[in-house]
Amino acid sequence: MMGHSHAMSGVVGWMAVVPLVQGTEFLGLSFDLGAGEIVAGSLVCAGAALLPDLDHRSATVTKTYGKVTETLSGILSWAFGGHRVGTHSFLFAVLMGVLVQLLALWSELAVQVFVFLLIGIALQGLGFGLDKNRAASGIINALGTAAITIALFTSGVNYTWLGLAVAFGCVLHFVGDMITKMGVPLFWPISKKKIGQGQGFVTDGPVEKKVVTPLLTVGVIVYSVYLFDWPELLPAY
Ligand SMILES: [Zn+2]
Repeated sequence: MMGHSHAMSGVVGWMAVVPLVQGTEFLGLSFDLGAGEIVAGSLVCAGAALLPDLDHRSATVTKTYGKVTETLSGILSWAFGGHRVGTHSFLFAVLMGVLVQLLALWSELAVQVFVFLLIGIALQGLGFGLDKNRAASGIINALGTAAITIALFTSGVNYTWLGLAVAFGCVLHFVGDMITKMGVPLFWPISKKKIGQGQGFVTDGPVEKKVVTPLLTVGVIVYSVYLFDWPELLPAY
């Protein structure tokens, strides 16, 4: 799938999971997700849903922070065996989740920085980066990212779920790649077999453009209305 489809799947995926996990406990974490956690989680998950493509030099995520993400891309591509290999495995999803969770336990500031970086990637992926004017789009993206991160910070969003959201976003990326014709080596390095290869629709083809992207858009709208109870916000007569 294209970057924007992956990012959208992160938003829809998080929104879909919220009602299922609300009030439950998992790995010692209790889920009490309010509006702030829903918005923050959607954007974090959208950003994380682009991370596996850091193994590709021309991916949206690799271009997001210029030399920084390009260098990271080079390192990850080398460490995980090239494009659509190790970064598209459960091992990568778990590693990223654990790394971020440890970061979250270690420092509150690190959490804010990481959330900022992921929201920037998410906005870039969702298409707020306008290709025609890179400098302007970079500034707009940075301001938007900063505004959202600060708004979430001041509203006291609880990020205990951060590592899980990152791992979940990576897994959503694998699903996205598997439903297109590209297989994903989910069990790398134990098995190099690319699961789902040759099945599904063509990346950026008519199915993705005319069916998947519109469906994801409808998903965002439906879940937003459902989760935020928007009708209640309308004036009562
Ligand atoms: Zn991919």
